Amino acid sequence: TEPPIDEVIAAIAVDIPDFPEPGVVFRDLTPVFADAGAFRRVVEAIAGSVLEDPRVGALGAGPGDRGFDVVAGVEARGFLLASAVALAAGTGVVPVRKAGKLPRARVSADYALEYGTATLELHTDSVAPGQRVLLVDDVLATGGTLEAAAGLVEQVGGIVTAISVVVELPALGGRERLRPHTVHTLWTT
Ligand code: AMP
Repeated sequence: TEPPIDEVIAAIAVDIPDFPEPGVVFRDLTPVFADAGAFRRVVEAIAGSVLEDPRVGALGAGPGDRGFDVVAGVEARGFLLASAVALAAGTGVVPVRKAGKLPRARVSADYALEYGTATLELHTDSVAPGQRVLLVDDVLATGGTLEAAAGLVEQVGGIVTAISVVVELPALGGRERLRPHTVHTLWTT
């Protein structure tokens, strides 16, 4: 039998102290994505994450319906996940991008980083009104990035059915910040 997914991720992910600045322990998941077996398990777990939700019925999940209609990934590591999750789930994928990359009508959200601010953007027509969106990124830290991304999805009329990440750093309070959204995490550290 296969080991639990959190053990698989913990064994392969690499912690880099003091990157990108002193005091931060950077959780590098690129070796997890590079490992065929681990990547497959991560992608399948995220694609099925809404099915594990106690609100599964209310979300419309069940046979033939995973509870979301499209996957949105946050630039850039979220793209690696979102695309594969969408393929596994049989949905399309939409990009939540950093400022200045999307060519057509878009919505923008500025948010605070530890130092300075950043901007995320979403094409206005990339999510249809009422569409259920699974929002995906690699790491949940303070939650500022995913809060901004969720706001963009809602601004264009989408419903954030859940937010899924590979790694959650609970000391930074991201889960609380993202309330009332449901957050699914594969490894908490
Ligand atoms: P936050 O907005 O604070 O939740 O930060 C989330 C974004 O920054 C995600 O896109 C992560 O990829 C990245 N990030 C923040 N902290 C870390 C960390 N300790 N290790 C790896 N990535 C991180």
